[in-house]
Amino acid sequence: MEPIGERIQELAAVRPHQTALIDDRSSVSWRELVCLTNRIANRLRVEGLKEGDTVALLSENRFEAVAVYLATLVAGGCVVPLSGMASGGSLALMVNDCAARFLFVSEKNLPLLDAMAGKLDQLTAAGCISLDTDDEGLNGLNQWLGQTGSEARPAQVTLDHPFNIIYSSGTTGTPKGILHDYRFRQRQMVRMSRFGLDGNAVNLVSTPLYSNTTLVSVLPTLFNGGTLILMARFDARRFLELAEHHRVTHAMLVPVQYQRILADPEFDRFDLSAFQLKLCTSAPLRAEVIRDALARWPGNIREVYGLTEGGISTCLDCAAHPDKWDSVGVPTEGAEVRVIDDQGNELPRGETGEIVGRAISMMRGYVNRDDQTRSMLWTSPDGLVFYRSGDMGRVDEDGFVYILDRRKDMIISGGFNIYAVDLENVLLAHPAVADAAVIGTPSEQWGETPLGLVVLKPRSEGGDISEAELLDWANAQLGKAQRMAAIEFRAELPRSSIGKVLKRELRADWRKR
Ligand code: ATP
Repeated sequence: MEPIGERIQELAAVRPHQTALIDDRSSVSWRELVCLTNRIANRLRVEGLKEGDTVALLSENRFEAVAVYLATLVAGGCVVPLSGMASGGSLALMVNDCAARFLFVSEKNLPLLDAMAGKLDQLTAAGCISLDTDDEGLNGLNQWLGQTGSEARPAQVTLDHPFNIIYSSGTTGTPKGILHDYRFRQRQMVRMSRFGLDGNAVNLVSTPLYSNTTLVSVLPTLFNGGTLILMARFDARRFLELAEHHRVTHAMLVPVQYQRILADPEFDRFDLSAFQLKLCTSAPLRAEVIRDALARWPGNIREVYGLTEGGISTCLDCAAHPDKWDSVGVPTEGAEVRVIDDQGNELPRGETGEIVGRAISMMRGYVNRDDQTRSMLWTSPDGLVFYRSGDMGRVDEDGFVYILDRRKDMIISGGFNIYAVDLENVLLAHPAVADAAVIGTPSEQWGETPLGLVVLKPRSEGGDISEAELLDWANAQLGKAQRMAAIEFRAELPRSSIGKVLKRELRADWRKR
């Protein structure tokens, strides 16, 4: 498999007029995409980019962001896609941590650049490029490119060459830069290509490009010459309109997006018959949602479990295993999952502990954090190296893996381990409940007790119940040790940009009161 920087040159030659991507503003052919990509790559070289150097990118999903991503690879650099959801302070930490000398920013994210001002060590004003127009001393992309030509000069890279650094979203602590090399990406592309992400695929991308979740399906689509439809911002109705209009075949969605799309009152009016496969990852996809989606939305669903670090990878074929919808499936080819206790001893099948795993594609390590890279590893008695997931779970008699909770989110009450997901599933089964999360709160008697935080549906849709009534209803279905001390209603739950409930924020808010 050739590097993607070379591959796209072939695609521009063999399918120059075919659509490579469509974003909110334009429809771009393979020739146009590769032309802009090569111009940016050539300019980066002129400006002194050396092989392996990092290039940071802070943009919503759009044509120019894909071009910068690919251009960095064509020039032999390592791309660092950043999240516009992060604060200026933490973005500055990331840019400094990976020693980026170039930063491409979209207009929407310019206020974040202001918030980083004075905190960037290596970056000069000349290295900051606005994807839009010139802005207060910043180079606009067109001005920066000037007369740069589009001749193709893809860098020669090996499998060990750095490909990208992705900063963890920080739901469990300070963001860490996860370094992936070409080996990681090539192996992932081979695997994902088997899901039909080929030259005929039309992949509707509604999660942000800076997340590994997104890249997992975007890169093989590009590599195989398919078409990307990019949404800058997710909106359920718009998703349905685009899916129908472009005869979309694939989408990688997080659970909250499935819920919002299926809840659209007009859902059944849309022709989604071109869909072949929907992928899901990042958080548990509930059985009711899978049932509903398989009944009303053409195409299968595959739920994937993994870490950006790449340590563990399982996949559930939802249509094939209706009795296993609570699981995240079985390890993918070449991957292995085991379960260990707090002392690092391997547990027999069926017992609950921390999930450890190894897969064919693994990160190179955390940037500048060798200690944390090492502490994430577990060596089995038979001498194999596994990644610790930080997730509590178990493996059933058929080899299906169940994820119960983040280890750090687990509630220990009166010596019992309580997994929030069990309690959340009970709450979500109530017809008045739209969203729910359970956190542990300090208790003198038990150490910790579970607290339910619930978003009700609008009254017109049945969201009419008191906190006390819902608490009684839910606790009646829970084991004695699992019962919640209280339920509090919230207008919404804080979520990360890829839809994960931010429990750390919920706990911090609760402590502040
Ligand atoms: P952080 O480590 O800061 O939370 P992150 O959220 O960016 O960073 P990811 O690598 O995207 O980290 O998330 C990996 C975690 O997401 C897993 O450890 C697991 O908790 C959760 N996860 C991923 N897929 C699934 C799934 N299918 N079902 C349940 N949980 C999942």
